[in-house]
Amino acid sequence: MASKSPLADKLKDVRDRIARAAAKAKRDPAEVTLVAVTKYAAPEVIRELIKLGVGDLAENRVQQLAQRSPQISEFHQRLLSSKDEGVAPRLRWHLIGHLQRNKAKQALPLVQLIHTVDSLRLAEELDAALEKVGPRADGPTKKFPILVQVNASEESQKSGVAVGATLHLAEQIATMPNLQVAGLMTMTAMDASEAECRQVFSRTRELFEELKWHKIGGAGLRHLSMGMSQDYEWAIEEGATLVRVGSALFGGKPEGDSSEED
Ligand SMILES: *Cc1c(COP(=O)(O)O)cnc(C)c1O
Repeated sequence: MASKSPLADKLKDVRDRIARAAAKAKRDPAEVTLVAVTKYAAPEVIRELIKLGVGDLAENRVQQLAQRSPQISEFHQRLLSSKDEGVAPRLRWHLIGHLQRNKAKQALPLVQLIHTVDSLRLAEELDAALEKVGPRADGPTKKFPILVQVNASEESQKSGVAVGATLHLAEQIATMPNLQVAGLMTMTAMDASEAECRQVFSRTRELFEELKWHKIGGAGLRHLSMGMSQDYEWAIEEGATLVRVGSALFGGKPEGDSSEED
Protein backbone atom coordinates (compact mmCIF):
# COMPACT_ATOMS: atom_id res chain seq x y z
CA MET A 1 0.00 0.00 0.00
CA ALA A 2 1.24 3.48 -0.83
CA SER A 3 2.29 5.44 2.24
CA LYS A 4 0.09 8.35 3.20
CA SER A 5 2.67 10.61 4.78
CA PRO A 6 5.89 10.23 6.73
CA LEU A 7 4.02 11.01 9.96
CA ALA A 8 1.30 8.46 9.21
CA ASP A 9 3.98 5.83 8.57
CA LYS A 10 5.82 6.60 11.80
CA LEU A 11 2.58 6.57 13.76
CA LYS A 12 1.64 3.21 12.30
CA ASP A 13 5.04 1.84 13.23
CA VAL A 14 4.76 3.10 16.82
CA ARG A 15 1.24 1.70 17.16
CA ASP A 16 2.35 -1.66 15.77
CA ARG A 17 5.23 -1.78 18.21
CA ILE A 18 2.93 -0.91 21.10
CA ALA A 19 0.60 -3.73 20.08
CA ARG A 20 3.46 -6.21 19.74
CA ALA A 21 5.00 -5.28 23.09
CA ALA A 22 1.60 -5.60 24.77
CA ALA A 23 0.99 -8.98 23.14
CA LYS A 24 4.41 -10.18 24.25
CA ALA A 25 3.51 -9.31 27.84
CA LYS A 26 0.03 -10.83 27.41
CA ARG A 27 -1.55 -7.43 27.97
CA ASP A 28 -4.46 -5.85 26.16
CA PRO A 29 -2.99 -3.13 23.89
CA ALA A 30 -6.00 -0.97 24.81
CA GLU A 31 -4.43 -0.65 28.28
CA VAL A 32 -1.61 1.38 26.76
CA THR A 33 -2.15 4.98 25.65
CA LEU A 34 0.23 6.65 23.26
CA VAL A 35 0.99 10.15 24.52
CA ALA A 36 2.58 12.12 21.68
CA VAL A 37 5.27 14.47 22.96
CA THR A 38 4.93 17.50 20.73
CA LYS A 39 7.65 19.71 22.19
CA TYR A 40 9.71 19.65 18.97
CA ALA A 41 6.80 19.36 16.54
CA ALA A 42 5.49 22.27 14.48
CA PRO A 43 1.82 23.18 14.95
CA GLU A 44 0.88 21.87 11.48
CA VAL A 45 2.40 18.51 12.34
CA ILE A 46 0.39 18.39 15.56
CA ARG A 47 -2.75 19.12 13.57
CA GLU A 48 -1.99 16.24 11.20
CA LEU A 49 -1.46 13.96 14.17
CA ILE A 50 -4.88 14.83 15.56
CA LYS A 51 -6.42 14.05 12.18
CA LEU A 52 -4.71 10.66 12.39
CA GLY A 53 -6.54 9.98 15.64
CA VAL A 54 -4.02 10.83 18.35
CA GLY A 55 -5.77 12.70 21.16
CA ASP A 56 -3.19 12.63 23.94
CA LEU A 57 -0.55 15.32 23.56
CA ALA A 58 2.26 16.29 25.91
CA GLU A 59 4.46 19.29 26.42
CA ASN A 60 7.30 19.97 28.85
CA ARG A 61 6.77 23.62 29.40
CA VAL A 62 3.83 25.57 30.73
CA GLN A 63 4.68 28.49 28.47
CA GLN A 64 4.58 26.34 25.34
CA LEU A 65 1.27 24.85 26.47
CA ALA A 66 -0.21 28.27 27.01
CA GLN A 67 0.84 29.30 23.52
CA ARG A 68 -0.23 26.17 21.68
CA SER A 69 -3.15 24.55 23.38
CA PRO A 70 -5.85 27.16 22.61
CA GLN A 71 -5.29 27.02 18.81
CA ILE A 72 -4.87 23.26 18.74
CA SER A 73 -7.98 22.74 20.85
CA GLU A 74 -9.96 25.03 18.58
CA PHE A 75 -8.70 23.15 15.53
CA HIS A 76 -9.80 19.90 17.15
CA GLN A 77 -13.26 21.28 17.84
CA ARG A 78 -13.61 22.32 14.20
CA LEU A 79 -12.57 18.86 13.02
CA LEU A 80 -15.12 17.25 15.29
CA SER A 81 -17.93 19.42 14.01
CA SER A 82 -16.93 18.76 10.39
CA LYS A 83 -17.21 15.02 11.17
CA ASP A 84 -13.80 14.35 9.67
CA GLU A 85 -13.17 10.62 9.88
CA GLY A 86 -10.58 9.18 12.21
CA VAL A 87 -10.23 12.29 14.36
CA ALA A 88 -9.49 11.68 18.02
CA PRO A 89 -12.79 12.06 19.89
CA ARG A 90 -11.11 13.75 22.85
CA LEU A 91 -8.10 15.96 23.19
CA ARG A 92 -6.08 15.68 26.37
CA TRP A 93 -2.98 17.67 27.24
CA HIS A 94 -0.33 16.22 29.52
CA LEU A 95 2.38 18.18 31.33
CA ILE A 96 5.51 16.03 31.47
CA GLY A 97 8.26 18.53 32.28
CA HIS A 98 9.37 19.73 35.67
CA LEU A 99 6.80 22.11 37.12
CA GLN A 100 7.91 25.08 39.15
CA ARG A 101 5.66 26.01 42.02
CA ASN A 102 5.18 29.53 40.74
CA LYS A 103 3.69 28.10 37.51
CA ALA A 104 1.34 25.63 39.21
CA LYS A 105 -1.67 27.87 39.01
CA GLN A 106 -1.07 28.74 35.37
CA ALA A 107 -0.62 25.08 34.40
CA LEU A 108 -3.87 23.73 35.83
CA PRO A 109 -6.40 25.06 33.32
CA LEU A 110 -4.16 24.03 30.41
CA VAL A 111 -3.78 20.31 31.10
CA GLN A 112 -5.76 17.21 31.99
CA LEU A 113 -2.91 15.34 33.69
CA ILE A 114 0.30 16.47 35.38
CA HIS A 115 2.96 13.72 35.35
CA THR A 116 5.63 15.45 37.36
CA VAL A 117 4.59 16.05 40.95
CA ASP A 118 7.69 15.30 42.98
CA SER A 119 7.41 17.27 46.18
CA LEU A 120 4.93 17.96 48.94
CA ARG A 121 5.28 21.69 48.43
CA LEU A 122 4.36 21.49 44.75
CA ALA A 123 1.35 19.30 45.58
CA GLU A 124 0.26 21.79 48.25
CA GLU A 125 0.57 24.63 45.77
CA LEU A 126 -1.59 22.77 43.23
CA ASP A 127 -4.14 21.80 45.86
CA ALA A 128 -4.42 25.40 47.06
CA ALA A 129 -4.76 26.73 43.50
CA LEU A 130 -7.54 24.22 42.81
CA GLU A 131 -9.32 25.30 45.96
CA LYS A 132 -9.63 28.75 44.43
CA VAL A 133 -10.88 27.71 40.98
CA GLY A 134 -13.30 25.14 42.37
CA PRO A 135 -14.08 21.67 41.03
CA ARG A 136 -13.72 20.93 37.33
CA ALA A 137 -16.66 20.02 35.19
CA ASP A 138 -14.83 17.76 32.72
CA GLY A 139 -12.92 15.35 34.93
CA PRO A 140 -13.91 11.77 35.78
CA THR A 141 -13.76 12.84 39.41
CA LYS A 142 -13.85 16.26 40.89
CA LYS A 143 -10.25 15.92 41.94
CA PHE A 144 -7.45 16.89 39.62
CA PRO A 145 -5.35 13.86 38.58
CA ILE A 146 -1.60 13.93 39.05
CA LEU A 147 1.20 11.40 38.83
CA VAL A 148 4.02 11.24 41.34
CA GLN A 149 7.35 11.36 39.52
CA VAL A 150 9.79 8.80 40.89
CA ASN A 151 13.54 9.02 40.49
CA ALA A 152 13.80 5.28 40.02
CA SER A 153 17.08 5.46 38.14
CA GLU A 154 18.53 7.16 41.21
CA GLU A 155 20.52 9.60 39.15
CA SER A 156 21.35 12.56 41.34
CA GLN A 157 20.54 15.19 38.72
CA LYS A 158 17.14 13.76 37.79
CA SER A 159 13.89 15.18 39.08
CA GLY A 160 11.57 12.94 40.97
CA VAL A 161 11.07 11.78 44.51
CA ALA A 162 13.44 9.13 45.87
CA VAL A 163 12.13 5.56 45.67
CA GLY A 164 12.13 5.24 49.46
CA ALA A 165 10.07 8.42 49.91
CA THR A 166 7.46 7.76 47.22
CA LEU A 167 4.90 5.90 49.28
CA HIS A 168 4.87 8.55 51.96
CA LEU A 169 4.55 11.42 49.47
CA ALA A 170 1.72 9.67 47.63
CA GLU A 171 -0.03 9.05 50.93
CA GLN A 172 0.19 12.72 51.86
CA ILE A 173 -1.10 13.86 48.45
CA ALA A 174 -3.98 11.39 48.66
CA THR A 175 -5.26 13.20 51.75
CA MET A 176 -5.49 16.52 49.88
CA PRO A 177 -9.05 17.51 48.99
CA ASN A 178 -8.43 18.54 45.40
CA LEU A 179 -5.81 16.13 44.10
CA GLN A 180 -6.18 12.57 42.85
CA VAL A 181 -3.10 10.34 42.93
CA ALA A 182 -3.56 8.72 39.53
CA GLY A 183 -0.28 6.86 39.40
CA LEU A 184 3.46 7.14 38.97
CA MET A 185 5.81 8.47 36.31
CA THR A 186 9.47 7.71 35.79
CA MET A 187 12.32 8.29 33.36
CA THR A 188 15.35 6.21 32.57
CA ALA A 189 18.85 7.60 32.37
CA MET A 190 20.14 8.69 29.00
CA ASP A 191 22.10 5.82 27.38
CA ALA A 192 20.90 3.28 29.94
CA SER A 193 21.11 -0.35 28.86
CA GLU A 194 18.06 -2.52 28.36
CA ALA A 195 18.67 -4.20 31.72
CA GLU A 196 18.96 -0.84 33.47
CA CYS A 197 15.81 0.48 31.81
CA ARG A 198 13.85 -2.62 32.74
CA GLN A 199 15.04 -2.36 36.31
CA VAL A 200 13.86 1.25 36.54
CA PHE A 201 10.48 0.29 35.09
CA SER A 202 9.99 -2.78 37.26
CA ARG A 203 10.99 -0.89 40.39
CA THR A 204 8.39 1.76 39.57
CA ARG A 205 5.82 -0.95 38.87
CA GLU A 206 6.54 -2.47 42.29
CA LEU A 207 5.99 0.91 43.91
CA PHE A 208 2.71 1.19 42.04
CA GLU A 209 1.63 -2.20 43.41
CA GLU A 210 2.59 -1.02 46.88
CA LEU A 211 0.42 2.09 46.51
CA LYS A 212 -2.42 -0.10 45.34
CA TRP A 213 -1.99 -2.46 48.27
CA HIS A 214 -2.22 0.53 50.62
CA LYS A 215 -5.30 1.73 48.66
CA ILE A 216 -3.64 5.08 47.95
CA GLY A 217 -5.63 6.87 45.26
CA GLY A 218 -8.37 4.25 45.40
CA ALA A 219 -9.94 3.29 42.07
CA GLY A 220 -8.37 6.40 40.53
CA LEU A 221 -4.89 4.87 40.80
CA ARG A 222 -4.49 3.68 37.23
CA HIS A 223 -1.41 4.95 35.48
CA LEU A 224 2.20 4.10 35.03
CA SER A 225 3.78 6.72 32.78
CA MET A 226 6.99 5.07 31.60
CA GLY A 227 8.87 4.79 28.35
CA MET A 228 10.04 7.22 25.67
CA SER A 229 11.09 6.67 22.05
CA GLN A 230 14.13 4.62 23.04
CA ASP A 231 12.54 2.34 25.58
CA TYR A 232 8.73 2.34 25.36
CA GLU A 233 8.49 -1.29 24.26
CA TRP A 234 10.35 -2.47 27.35
CA ALA A 235 8.23 -0.13 29.48
CA ILE A 236 5.06 -1.73 28.12
CA GLU A 237 6.39 -5.18 28.91
CA GLU A 238 7.01 -3.95 32.45
CA GLY A 239 3.48 -2.51 32.83
CA ALA A 240 3.35 1.03 31.39
CA THR A 241 -0.12 2.43 30.67
CA LEU A 242 1.09 5.77 29.25
CA VAL A 243 4.08 5.92 26.90
CA ARG A 244 5.53 9.34 26.10
CA VAL A 245 6.83 9.24 22.55
CA GLY A 246 8.35 12.23 20.77
CA SER A 247 11.26 11.70 18.41
CA ALA A 248 10.01 8.33 17.10
CA LEU A 249 7.05 10.29 15.67
CA PHE A 250 8.50 13.67 14.86
CA GLY A 251 12.25 13.20 14.53
CA GLY A 252 14.86 14.51 16.92
CA LYS A 253 15.10 17.79 18.65
CA PRO A 254 16.14 20.90 16.75
CA GLU A 255 19.78 21.91 16.64
CA GLY A 256 20.89 23.91 19.66
CA ASP A 257 17.83 23.27 21.79
CA SER A 258 18.84 22.26 25.27
CA SER A 259 15.62 23.10 27.06
CA GLU A 260 14.25 20.14 28.94
CA GLU A 261 12.06 21.91 31.42
CA ASP A 262 10.69 25.19 32.58
C1 LIG B 1 10.97 14.84 25.61
C2 LIG B 1 10.39 13.91 26.58
C3 LIG B 1 9.83 12.69 26.15
C4 LIG B 1 9.89 12.20 24.72
O1 LIG B 1 11.19 11.83 24.42
P1 LIG B 1 11.57 11.12 23.03
O2 LIG B 1 12.84 10.45 23.33
O3 LIG B 1 11.68 12.21 22.03
O4 LIG B 1 10.48 10.17 22.72
C5 LIG B 1 9.22 11.90 27.10
N1 LIG B 1 9.15 12.26 28.41
C6 LIG B 1 9.68 13.41 28.84
C7 LIG B 1 9.59 13.73 30.28
C8 LIG B 1 10.32 14.27 27.96
O5 LIG B 1 10.86 15.39 28.41
